[in-house]
Amino acid sequence: MNTPLLIFNDNGIYCQQADVYIDAWKPVEKCIITHGHADHSRWGHKKYITHHNNVPIIKHRLGEIEVSGKEWGETFTINGVTFSLHPAGHIIASSQVRVSYQGEVWVFTGDFKTEEDGIAEPFELVKCHTFITECTFGLPAFKWTPQAEVFKQINRWWESNQAEGKTSVLFGYSLGKAQRLLKHLNPEIGRIYTHGAIENMTQVVRDNYSMPPTTRITRETTKEELKGTMVLAPPSAHGGTWIRRMVPYVTASA
Ligand SMILES: [Zn+2]
Repeated sequence: MNTPLLIFNDNGIYCQQADVYIDAWKPVEKCIITHGHADHSRWGHKKYITHHNNVPIIKHRLGEIEVSGKEWGETFTINGVTFSLHPAGHIIASSQVRVSYQGEVWVFTGDFKTEEDGIAEPFELVKCHTFITECTFGLPAFKWTPQAEVFKQINRWWESNQAEGKTSVLFGYSLGKAQRLLKHLNPEIGRIYTHGAIENMTQVVRDNYSMPPTTRITRETTKEELKGTMVLAPPSAHGGTWIRRMVPYVTASA
């Protein structure tokens, strides 16, 4: 067998032929980033390469970094090794990385999801000789309610809370889950408010992804105006003082 195109070392997933890392967990010279979640896009690399829709996301998280954005399927060559990014369907702007060298093709998926969710670019199946993947909920034991049904339930839940004069508070991570929820909320039911962490991230990606309008909750936001609305908040807001002004409220986690 030829020398592997990707190996795992102390710093991360490494392509020795190109001298480049993918989603390195320690600071390295050059790193391809699959997506914006904190366990994949870490601070301290000299150069970042990622899909261009992920550029504003990681800049928002990591500050001023040197980053180059690529199109889906655009090839770029590093030390004779050809790379390209392909949609992973996990969250907005999440990529698989295709690595090709001397006729050998490897694909690293990063986090991925094969079912379309209406906002993340749909997963693309990429032919390869070697496939490296990570999988959390792939066992047949995991059976999920179809997404369309779940979103219908969420909107119905909101309507019934509203009818009772209650605020609906829906928890989801500020990158990925929050935008996916927002995309499927029905703004005809009422206003959608956001916790600052979610509002900031959502503003960063609005240029590239269309979503219903949101209103940031500030110190001035009154209990009265929140009544019957939907509030999107990160899980960390659960149980804190922030949520008290929403009384009476009902919560759910996505
Ligand atoms: Zn992820």
